[in-house]
Amino acid sequence: MGKIIDGKALSQAVKDEVKAEVERLQAAYGRKPCLAVIIVGENPASQVYVRNKVAAAAYTGMESRKLELPADIGEEALLQRIRALNDDPDTDGILVQLPLPSHIDEEKVIDAIAPEKDVDGFHPENVAGLWLGKRCIVPCTPAGVVRIIDSLGLDLAGKHAVVVGRSNIVGKPVAKLLLDRNATVTIAHSRTADLGAVCRSADVLVVAVGKARLVTGDMIKPGAIVIDVGINRGADGKLCGDVDFASAEPVASWITPVPGGVGPMTIAMLMKNTIACFLGRQE
Ligand code: NAD
Repeated sequence: MGKIIDGKALSQAVKDEVKAEVERLQAAYGRKPCLAVIIVGENPASQVYVRNKVAAAAYTGMESRKLELPADIGEEALLQRIRALNDDPDTDGILVQLPLPSHIDEEKVIDAIAPEKDVDGFHPENVAGLWLGKRCIVPCTPAGVVRIIDSLGLDLAGKHAVVVGRSNIVGKPVAKLLLDRNATVTIAHSRTADLGAVCRSADVLVVAVGKARLVTGDMIKPGAIVIDVGINRGADGKLCGDVDFASAEPVASWITPVPGGVGPMTIAMLMKNTIACFLGRQE
């Protein structure tokens, strides 16, 4: 039987680390880190994510500001708000909740955020930093995935890691972070032939696709570590991952549940990134 990784407990430990760090920074610098979160429009899922992010910031004791902007805001007006936050000495981190309404170019928005305040790690300067091995802000979900894997205390050298999904925000950065831990990494995606065989060769399997229960137990090597990034609404109306937990759990050595696995870690790592931005700006 696989052991279930408690992402909630691990995220709580990370948030408690951040809480202690916020107190230390307040004492050392006379102010707390401040995260600004911009939400455009009323996408219900985005509202929930932003609410959770602001609540996590409050838990850690850091400052946060929520800017709620109307769905019909012009692109230039949004860019101006971002530039104002870039110039604001009391704002350390800026997060623009995606997706944005279709009349706004997301790439332009991401590019407009000052790289040293880019808590999501999506700015090209941070992406380049990740791939070149320079100091950078690492995107929150990938950072959460490897924090979970690191918590198991295993040496990944010589292990085969398979990442299913090649998005800029999850799949690609997760692959680079596993490469940094000396795993031999394969990235599988929608055009991969025989996904089952590729997954079955993985000692560490990270799935970030967005298709409910795509990966089933027969696609998993006995004893593999399985990290499920997916968040889907199953046919039964309940939240589920990209991995079919019921058939995968008996085969894996460790597995993350959905909900309660990677999701809470994403928010905890956002708090960590806000601290990193604060510290980066003190130099
Ligand atoms: P995306 O749509 O940008 O990318 C999906 C990737 O899956 C693509 O690279 C595609 O090639 C691959 N893919 C699609 N169908 C496939 C198939 N049949 N076989 C193999 N590969 C296939 O998605 P994303 O933004 O990377 O998110 C992936 C999932 O992770 C979604 O469910 C999303 O909600 C979830 N997510 C969770 C968190 C979190 O905090 N837990 C954060 C971000 C994303």
